[in-house]
Amino acid sequence: MSDAPVTDWSRGLELKAGDWFIGLYQPSPETTGFWEGVTQQELRLKHCPACARDFHPKRIVCTDCGSAELVWKRASGRATVYSFSEVHRAPSPAFAGSTPYIVGLVRLEEGVHLFTRIEGGPVAIDTPVTVDFRVLELGKLMPVFRVTDA
Ligand SMILES: [Zn+2]
Repeated sequence: MSDAPVTDWSRGLELKAGDWFIGLYQPSPETTGFWEGVTQQELRLKHCPACARDFHPKRIVCTDCGSAELVWKRASGRATVYSFSEVHRAPSPAFAGSTPYIVGLVRLEEGVHLFTRIEGGPVAIDTPVTVDFRVLELGKLMPVFRVTDA
């Protein structure tokens, strides 16, 4: 038998880069403008003025021209469901009262994909969704996406 420590996956795994969690969960130097937008219930993306392209809030360099002069731009908030999964087992006690719920990737009109909570329903691939803002289980105001009313 190996003496290697056993990872307890039941509590999830914290993926960190230095002091920062991987993903859009907490403010970090490159996402300050995104979180300022969230407090104003405004979804913001990075934008390269030279290429007129939009990027995920974590992006720090334009993948087209290499410019690091990215600016914040308000997103339309309209997206479609790209992929999703229904969560039945709470990742921590705070989520126990929320199961089942849906998380997934949405593809914004701007072409950027975001991992997010998806609410309302029914949810299927390509379902139109619209950004909304809600205080989630950990007490933090977060962007979520709701199925757009027909
Ligand atoms: Zn560019």
